Amino acid sequence: MTPACIFCRIAAKESPADIEYEDDLVMAFRDLYPKAPVHLLIVPKRHIESIAQVEPGDAGVLGRCIQVARLMGERTGYAERGYRLSCNTGPEGGQVVDHIHFHFTAGRR
Ligand code: AMP
Ligand code: ZN
Repeated sequence: MTPACIFCRIAAKESPADIEYEDDLVMAFRDLYPKAPVHLLIVPKRHIESIAQVEPGDAGVLGRCIQVARLMGERTGYAERGYRLSCNTGPEGGQVVDHIHFHFTAGRR
């Protein structure tokens, strides 16, 4: 846990979040400032800063994130219509929170 990191604090239940899914490795919660009718963040519980810091040992947890995205697609009813999964990386990639996360957005073309 990185105490200064808001997503670590959410994972540790030290900060509130509207949690839609949680398992031993990953959680999904609603984005505080949604940019689409459905906007979830799929986040490894363990602190990984960004794609630029991913190690081979992170493959399992990142694979789990994709599986959770599939599940969120099914649960939100967008599996057939489709959705977007995106991961901003680094300052010029638009990353503001330096704890790797996937934006799951749906309901807007
Ligand atoms: P990014 O620009 O990819 O780093 O996205 C960070 C996202 O986290 C933004 O869409 C924010 O709205 C969202 N966010 C920041 N703080 C929180 C929070 N405490 N709970 C939920 N979402 C948050
Ligand atoms: Zn963190």
